[in-house]
Amino acid sequence: MKVPGVSRLRRVAKRLRGRLAPGGLILMYHRITEVKSDPWSICVSPRHFAQQMEVLRKFGDVVSLQQFNQTLQQGKTPHWQIAVTFDDGYTDNLYSAKPLLERYDIPATMFLTSGYMEQKRDLWWDELNRLLLEPGSLPELLCLEINGTTHRWELGTAVDYSEQQFQRYCSWRASGEENPTPRHALFHALYWLLSPLLPEVRQKVMDELLAWAGFVPTLRPAHRIANLEEVSALGKGGLIEIGAHSVTHPFLSFLPIARQREEIQDSKTRLEEIVGQKVVSFAIPTATILRKQQL
Ligand SMILES: [Zn+2]
Repeated sequence: MKVPGVSRLRRVAKRLRGRLAPGGLILMYHRITEVKSDPWSICVSPRHFAQQMEVLRKFGDVVSLQQFNQTLQQGKTPHWQIAVTFDDGYTDNLYSAKPLLERYDIPATMFLTSGYMEQKRDLWWDELNRLLLEPGSLPELLCLEINGTTHRWELGTAVDYSEQQFQRYCSWRASGEENPTPRHALFHALYWLLSPLLPEVRQKVMDELLAWAGFVPTLRPAHRIANLEEVSALGKGGLIEIGAHSVTHPFLSFLPIARQREEIQDSKTRLEEIVGQKVVSFAIPTATILRKQQL
């Protein structure tokens, strides 16, 4: 039996390591802030984000999404390469994330939803959170007519949500955890009912929900999306690439093809006008399928 030489064994080991080693990693952040209630786990505190960036800088091979993509286009695997991205375009991306990215010299791509930049009210999922998971009372009966179907809920004990309940459950996570109260069950039911709707239908339902609860549409500073000047500031300095994330943040695959095209193209065009640069990256907005694509 022939014993393989040491150099051959080394070559085999290297090849195996190459096969077993993970590919690249795209980190997807949303918000760098602390809020009272974060059911979808989209917030990372500035302190933790700073620690994460420090570790990435020290031990990671951090590249821009464009470099990451280049590696793939050359037919190579981006072994151990890490790209940092953000979705949605909340203001904390500018005021909290950007300074920390600059401190650690970490490039990032921020995917912005162009239709929300001038909106004078919270995003619909933040409105739903405010409506149902903050202390207060709601009417006993909720009836919603959506696409010809009537949905009816009798709130029962979910009518009231006390400060004590809020404090007890404010760290509740909507994915993977049981609903601790009927309010949380209603939150879940409405979120999944509203998510796949056409943006204009969803907006109408949100208007009805707010009116039912006696709420006025409000833009809360802690939940604000970056405005035009702030988006322009985000793109300055060369470290941050601005990418598109649709106009209205629909479940893209639920829309007719022509609407999907509009959502992609219009957000790209609008962002290019604002930042004065080509927008070549797009992140698909959806709650279940998370994919980054090159335009
Ligand atoms: Zn998103």
